[in-house]
Amino acid sequence: MDHRRSIRRRPSPRPLAAALVATGLAVAGAVPALAPAAADPRQQEPSPLAVGTGGAISTVDPEASRVGLEVLRRGGNAVDAAVAAAAALGVTEPYSAGIGGGGYFLHYDAETGVVETIDGRETAPQAMPHDAFVDPATGEPYNFTPELVTSGVSVGTPGTPATWDLALERWGTLSLAEALRPATQLARRGFVVDETFRSQTLDNAERFAAFPATAELFLPGGDAPAVGSVFRNRDLADTYSLLAKHGVEAFYGGRLAQEMVDAVQHPVTDPATDLPVPPGYLELEDLAGYEALVREPTRVDYRGLDVYGMAPSSSGGSTVGEALNILERFDLAGMSDAEYLHHYLEASALAFADRGAAVGDPAYVDVPLKTLLSDEYAAERACLIDPAKALPKPLPPGDLTADGEPCTAAAPVEDPDTENVSTTNLTVVDASGDVVEYTLTIEQTGGSGIVVPGRGFLLNNELTDFTAVWDEADPNRIEPGKRPRSSISPTLVMQDGAPVLALGSPGGSTIITTVLQTLTNRIDRGMPIGEALAAPRAAQRNTATVTAEPAFIEAYGPALEAYGHTLEASGDAFSSAAEIGAATAIEIGPDGLLTAVAEPQRRGGGAALVVDPVRH
Ligand code: GLU
Repeated sequence: MDHRRSIRRRPSPRPLAAALVATGLAVAGAVPALAPAAADPRQQEPSPLAVGTGGAISTVDPEASRVGLEVLRRGGNAVDAAVAAAAALGVTEPYSAGIGGGGYFLHYDAETGVVETIDGRETAPQAMPHDAFVDPATGEPYNFTPELVTSGVSVGTPGTPATWDLALERWGTLSLAEALRPATQLARRGFVVDETFRSQTLDNAERFAAFPATAELFLPGGDAPAVGSVFRNRDLADTYSLLAKHGVEAFYGGRLAQEMVDAVQHPVTDPATDLPVPPGYLELEDLAGYEALVREPTRVDYRGLDVYGMAPSSSGGSTVGEALNILERFDLAGMSDAEYLHHYLEASALAFADRGAAVGDPAYVDVPLKTLLSDEYAAERACLIDPAKALPKPLPPGDLTADGEPCTAAAPVEDPDTENVSTTNLTVVDASGDVVEYTLTIEQTGGSGIVVPGRGFLLNNELTDFTAVWDEADPNRIEPGKRPRSSISPTLVMQDGAPVLALGSPGGSTIITTVLQTLTNRIDRGMPIGEALAAPRAAQRNTATVTAEPAFIEAYGPALEAYGHTLEASGDAFSSAAEIGAATAIEIGPDGLLTAVAEPQRRGGGAALVVDPVRH
C-alpha cells in the first residue's frame, strides 16, 4: 500500500512507515490487546508508533491512550475519545493535568470542514489586585519559587471541566457521564507507578509535604509511591462520579466549589513546613461565572499548506504562525543542518520578541493579530536575519503599527521566562476524519501543590503565567478576570482542504518551539513524522542563550556556536529531566492511512494506538 503523503515535496520520498522502522521505531505490535476496563492494573509499555485506519490516538500515557482507543472502537468520535483520555490523564498524569487546571482544545469537523477551538484557560479571580505577586511584608515581588508557585495566590479559576462539557455538547456524541466512566474506573482500580511518576513526585516532595491533604494522597507513608506499586485515587473517582451525576454545575457551584475557595484562601499547611504559601483570591463568584470560550483559530499559509493554531489568550498560534511566515522566506530544504537550525532559532527569537510585546488576553488587550500573521510583517522581520551570524538577544519587537518601516525595531524588552515544562497533550483522529488536538495543564509539574482535601486533584498555579510586576504597557499584566498568556499550541496542518497532520506538546513556552521545530523538521527537512518528533530539540525564546537538550548540544553545538549562539542544557528546579516537551502527533495519508506517533523516550515514552493496525 502506498501511504506516502509527503506534505513536503521531498527529492526522493521514502515510504513513511519504512522510514520510521529504519529509525528504530517498531511498527509490529503497536496495538497491544485491549484489557477490559476493570482488569487489574498492569505495567504498560510505551508504543511510540502505530500505523493503520479506523481512528487513532496518541497521548503521553498508555492507560490514557487505551481509554481513548476503546471509545473510538465503540463508535465514539474524536471529541468523545479526547475527553475520555483527558480524564484518564487526570488520573495517571495528575501533576500535569486535571480538573483543577485549564487548556486549549482544537477541533476539525470532517463533515463541515470547519476548524474551531475552545479556550479553556484559567482566569484571574475578580478580587485579584494588580500587585498580587508582591510580598506585602517586603514590598518586593515574591520569588517565583517557592512562594509564588506553591501558593493560593497563583491559583486561577479552573477551565478544564467547562472545556470537556462544552466540547462534548458542541461536537461529541457521549454525555459527560459516559465520557468520564473509563477514567473513573481507572482511578478506582489504579495504575502501575513508573519511573516518571515516582521521580516527579520526589521532585515535588518538599512542597507536597507542606499540605497534609497533598501528602496523604501523593506521599503515602511519607514517601513517593514505589515504582511497580499500584496507585489508586478513590477521591478522584468520587469527584468524577459527582460530575457524572450532577454535571459541571457540581464543580462550579455547591460544596466542591466552596472547598476549592477555602483551599485557595486558607491553604491548610503542615506546621513543619518552611514554605510561606501566600493565600489567594478565588471566590465562589469566579467559579460560578467561569466560561470556556469558542474561538476562531489562527491560520497561516506555509508553503501551500494551511496551518491552524490557537488564537490569544494563547500566544501559540500567533508565535508559531509568525515564525513560519518568517521561515517561509528561506529555502530551509536546501540548507545544511546548521544553516537550517540557525534560521529556525533566529525566526523563533524574532517571533518571541513580538509575542512578549503584543500578545495577551484579547478581552483586555488589543492584540495586532492580523499584523503578526501577515506575510508583509514577516518580510520586515525576516530581513533582520543574518544568514551567517546570530543576532544579539534579547531582540526588540518589530513595529507592529501598520505602516512601520522595513527592518526597524523598538527597544528590546526583557521577557523573563518563568514557564515550566509540565502539562500534557493528546491527538485524536476518528473514523470519520474528525480531528482533536488538545493540550491541558495545571502549569508547573504538581501545579500549586494544593490538593483540594478529599477530592483527589491538584489546583493549578496558572496565574504565574502573568507578568509578576504590573506594568500598564505589558499585554500580560495582571487584571481581574483576565486569562494569563499561554504558549499552548494545538496545531492542525491542512493540504487542499484536508487535514494532513495534527500535533501539539507540553513544555511551557517551549511548546511553541517544539511545535515549530517539529513542523519544519517534517515539512522542510523531509523527516518522517516519528523522526521529526523524536529529534533532539532546542528552544530560542528571545533569551541570551538557547535552551537545548543534551543530545542537541552534542549533535549541533559546535556548528551553531560558530554562528554565535550560546547553548545551555535544559532542566529546571522542578524536574530532574533535561527534556524539552513530550509531543504527540497524527499524520493522515491521502487514502486515510493514519500514522500516530508519541515520544519514544521523553517522560518515559508515550503511547500511539490505531483502531485497525496495518501489519508489517
Ligand atoms: N502554563 C503554560 C502555558 O499555558 C503551560 C504549562 C507548561 O506546559 O508547562 O503556556
